[in-house]
Amino acid sequence: MIEVITPSSPYGFAANTYILRSGNETCVIDPTVPYDPTLVGGRLKYIILTHCHFDHILELDSWAENTSAEVIISAEDAEGLSDPSINCYLLFSGLNKGYRGRYKAVYDGDKLSLGEHTLSVVHLPGHTPGCIALVGEGLAFVGDTVFAGGGFGRCDLPRGNYRALRDSIMKVLSFPDDTVLYCGHGESTTVKEYKKHSIIK
Ligand SMILES: [Zn+2]
Repeated sequence: MIEVITPSSPYGFAANTYILRSGNETCVIDPTVPYDPTLVGGRLKYIILTHCHFDHILELDSWAENTSAEVIISAEDAEGLSDPSINCYLLFSGLNKGYRGRYKAVYDGDKLSLGEHTLSVVHLPGHTPGCIALVGEGLAFVGDTVFAGGGFGRCDLPRGNYRALRDSIMKVLSFPDDTVLYCGHGESTTVKEYKKHSIIK
């Protein structure tokens, strides 16, 4: 099993941060807690971003600067990392901020190995053009595509697209029913539970 740790962020509006451990390798998804080596345990291999929005990258600099882990983002969202009009720093906080460090762009179907496990990259455009899920055995980190209780991400932010989002939600609903969905905000859910509440079927 992949061990999943969910540290709480000091920022009230922050997205969920997930720390995944398998064997002696660790990755962090959407770093919104300050870098903390005690959270890592083992070698930090990846810093993975489900998409480029500001509330998912609040502590990206501290993780990237203090480690040699690869920063992973989809090719479609990579330019948004440094652009405050795309990552929404400007819209929500008026800050001209972004991430301007190194990264590796990934595409739908790419595989990331972590310990004895593999995470698959699944492209879920809609909330942003480059939203991705990281899918492992029995679990998926779905960013802001779906939220527990039948909710889903906004598509009225820059470069959002409802038709694409609807197709991406359908893609998530095609995962096996017992897949645990770790959402970008709020509680986790399962595909089966989500289907009970979803207006998109
Ligand atoms: Zn977002």
